[in-house]
Amino acid sequence: MKEPVSSSRATTDPGASTFEATHAHALARDRADTLARFRHEFAIPRHDDGSQAIYFCGDSLGLQPLRAERYVVDELHTWRDVAVRGHFEPPRPWLSYHELVTDGLARLVGAEPREVVAMNSLTVNLHLMLATFYRPTAARFKILMEDHAFPSDAYAVASHVATRGLDPDRAIVRVAPRPGEERLNHDDIEAAIAREGNALALVLWPGVQYYSGQAFDLAAIVAAGHRHGARVGFDLAHAAGNLVLALHDWHADFACWCSYKYMNAGPGAVAGCFVHAAHVANRGLPRLAGWWGHDSATRFRMGPDFDPMPTADGWQLSNPPILSLAPLRASLELFDEAGIASLRAKSVTLTGFLEYLLNRRMGDQIEIVTPSDPEARGCQLSIRVRSGLPGRELHARVERAGVACDFREPNVVRVAPTPLYNTFDEVYRFVDILAGCV
Ligand SMILES: *Cc1c(COP(=O)(O)O)cnc(C)c1O
Repeated sequence: MKEPVSSSRATTDPGASTFEATHAHALARDRADTLARFRHEFAIPRHDDGSQAIYFCGDSLGLQPLRAERYVVDELHTWRDVAVRGHFEPPRPWLSYHELVTDGLARLVGAEPREVVAMNSLTVNLHLMLATFYRPTAARFKILMEDHAFPSDAYAVASHVATRGLDPDRAIVRVAPRPGEERLNHDDIEAAIAREGNALALVLWPGVQYYSGQAFDLAAIVAAGHRHGARVGFDLAHAAGNLVLALHDWHADFACWCSYKYMNAGPGAVAGCFVHAAHVANRGLPRLAGWWGHDSATRFRMGPDFDPMPTADGWQLSNPPILSLAPLRASLELFDEAGIASLRAKSVTLTGFLEYLLNRRMGDQIEIVTPSDPEARGCQLSIRVRSGLPGRELHARVERAGVACDFREPNVVRVAPTPLYNTFDEVYRFVDILAGCV
């Protein structure tokens, strides 16, 4: 990689060289952890024997913030007690309820409040952003993405391109790892952008690759795309709540993310969307509109003409799902209390400790697919296990021993210790369990 990944700059852990492969060391790290109290803000699932499970699935579905239940029940009670008046009922009228998460979202992704909105789900937001920022012309019509994009992103882009009457096979350009490699090379991304040049309408890139856990130099990708006249947007499903992001300063045109992974807002939670300040007030941008994107001051005049909010709110379609926003509020409060920079610093150490123990204790049985450079990854490590066991059987054994982690055929285990609720003790015990199962 040519340049450091700016999404995680200045977070290298000075203590990584002082790791020790003992349980006592893990416990000492936990005692010294200034963020340890946040674990008590979450519901930790239980293993069959009643003990707390080792939950390393935060990259898939984050744990429930304890206060989320109260926040949801509060709104259920408002609905029960005052029904339609809930739209205006202090202290949290539903009419403006979505604004309660704006500042927290902005802080989490490095944006101005007017640049972010919580709405819809991730794939829906991808389509909405493509509708606005993919403006194909006869000469400039290509979309650059990664070859192994998450299926929903691949389906969304291909189907979207087809709705414009274009051939996805011609319009979509994919960047793959080099033969025999599993990680993408940053130079290859920039080379593809330069090669497509004037034909490139849009670069759509992930913040963190979901399978390998590789993080990208998003600032450099924006700069390269813009240098060649393309728009640049990000899918931050695995990056939001994981890395330190600076979407505004990087000049990303748009970004979308879901809120149920590292952001702990619950299954199917309302997603997030970023539109750069340079675009939010541009009424000339085409969009798929709905009444909730209309200027809130005049929305209820119910006029025939669409007059969008001069903020990311202007891309809203429908009145928001209050019961889904409530857990997001709970989650964002915790991110604000802990601070994403501090969380990222702990994450680098926590994942570094996991990597250290794996290499030290299982070096000849495993291969880590995820980059070893902390700046080129987030919480997650994808571990390929070489053992006589079929991968599925290995995963089942690890789960029976009380670990929740993710498995991908044929033999990759994905583990994501998260800094809000995981501990060094859990990392240590996980490696013990994995070694025992192999
Ligand atoms: C998790 C994930 C999704 C899921 O999309 P939904 O619309 O939330 O169901 C899409 N893309 C990526 C890259 C993901 O990691």
